[in-house]
Amino acid sequence: MSTEQEHPNTAFGWAARDSSGVFSPFKFSRRETGDKDVMFKVLYCGICHSDLHMAKNEWGTSNYPLVPGHEIVGVVTEVGSKVQKFNVGDKVGVGCMVGSCKSCESCSNNLENYCPKSILTYGSKYYDGTITYGGYSDIMVANEHFVVRIPDNLPLDGAAPLLCAGITTYSPLRYFGLDKPGMHVGVVGLGGLGHVAVKFAKAMGVKVTVISTSPNKKDEAIEHLCADSFLVSRNEDQMQAAMGTLDGIIDTVSALHPLLPLIGLLKSHGKLVMVGAPEKPLELPVFPLLVGRKIVAGSTIGGMKETQEMIDFASKHNITADIEVIPMDYVNTAMERLLKADVRYRFVIDIGNTLKSTL
Ligand SMILES: [Zn+2]
Ligand SMILES: [Zn+2]
Repeated sequence: MSTEQEHPNTAFGWAARDSSGVFSPFKFSRRETGDKDVMFKVLYCGICHSDLHMAKNEWGTSNYPLVPGHEIVGVVTEVGSKVQKFNVGDKVGVGCMVGSCKSCESCSNNLENYCPKSILTYGSKYYDGTITYGGYSDIMVANEHFVVRIPDNLPLDGAAPLLCAGITTYSPLRYFGLDKPGMHVGVVGLGGLGHVAVKFAKAMGVKVTVISTSPNKKDEAIEHLCADSFLVSRNEDQMQAAMGTLDGIIDTVSALHPLLPLIGLLKSHGKLVMVGAPEKPLELPVFPLLVGRKIVAGSTIGGMKETQEMIDFASKHNITADIEVIPMDYVNTAMERLLKADVRYRFVIDIGNTLKSTL
């Protein structure tokens, strides 16, 4: 059956049709609001770097037509009869996942993000066998377990990127114990992920050093994002002077880059946590790990409980992403600019005001 007729609710969005990654208007459908489902009108959706990878099938897992978007916020329009957490009119969001097995060890520990059967918000097969579509679209239907509440004080547009970029950096700061006041944490890369990492770490009372290849990001890091210091990673004198000073590092860079200088920045027992996803393996020098009992680790998004906790923390500390709001029909240009890192720091599509059904 065609995607337009497989479900009862008419939906409209923008889809990539093939690995050229070019987006165009797309008519499809959403399932009925089930007992435990929430339907919401999408108002904003952030553009994550993974949307670009997926649109171009760079990870080899894409199904077309592909409607990306996993930083989705909006207002509830309908709730199923057994929904307990939400009412019509509530402000809500959906991040990277819309399903998981609910029975594995990860699911039992509120770590649905590490469930081997987790269902991604777009381009994944749902329980009913149909393909999931993300937030570059007018409506969303999701099980309430995978829906978070957005507190009133958070602007919806700036809150959208927290659902991926936010939780991706918040979760490792918490899990690896890099959230204690007085600690000193490095953030590598000042993009969509990095800039929210700085904001969260500062709000946790941690001293923050931004590490970047571009010296021209220094003013922005220190004056705007209130980082405590800035290191140019290509400046050997600066890097040398900072050796052994960091309790941990959140590395957001997804390009190939050397780990040795970063490991050198860590104190003994320091932790280098990778949250970017380089396409090729990085070289891992082991000797410098041994001599300081250091750890290199990875982390991806967070469970649903922690995602709500992150949003509530952001609400308490007035943390949102720095965004450039764009109309839906700007998405192809936005993707070209994203490829050149030409955005401070996240594009957010104004779905509510600019997505018009043209088919
Ligand atoms: Zn993402
Ligand atoms: Zn599971």
